[in-house]
Amino acid sequence: MSSIFTRIIQREIPSHEVYRDDYVVAFLDIAPLSRGHVLVVPIEEREYLHELSEASARALGSALPRIARAVMGATGATAYNVLQNNGSAAHQAVPHVHFHIIPKPAAGAGGGSGLGIHWQPTQLNAHDAATLADGIRAGCVGADS
Ligand code: 5GP
Repeated sequence: MSSIFTRIIQREIPSHEVYRDDYVVAFLDIAPLSRGHVLVVPIEEREYLHELSEASARALGSALPRIARAVMGATGATAYNVLQNNGSAAHQAVPHVHFHIIPKPAAGAGGGSGLGIHWQPTQLNAHDAATLADGIRAGCVGADS
């Protein structure tokens, strides 16, 4: 699996790169939801977050707060969303893991209004919750890749 992001990482396609280490590259989104919208991408080619190696996961965990600080510093925004889509049903358009860092500008600031969220909560099913939590807990044990 190779995506347009691999070609950007390999600099075959130009981008406004803002960060690079041995595992992670970040660059400006070509269609930003707000000024400073950045994509943070593992060099490892995986479609879904849960497929990443431990090394990539650790590097992303370290790079994300660092890049978020830099985006806030450069844009002056004080609020932001981190978005990470997995699967086309979940709005993933590029099949290579990536995190969006999307500043939430002050009202009227221009350059886009940031991420809009349509959030429709339901109620936790009391009968299912314990079974569900047991299943997820069991999956987390020894799940290092
Ligand atoms: P997704 O919906 O997969 O989470 O988001 C993919 C993102 O990649 C979109 O925000 C889109 O604008 C961005 N994108 C797609 N192609 C390119 C490209 O060639 N260059 C850059 N910089 N961003 C891209």
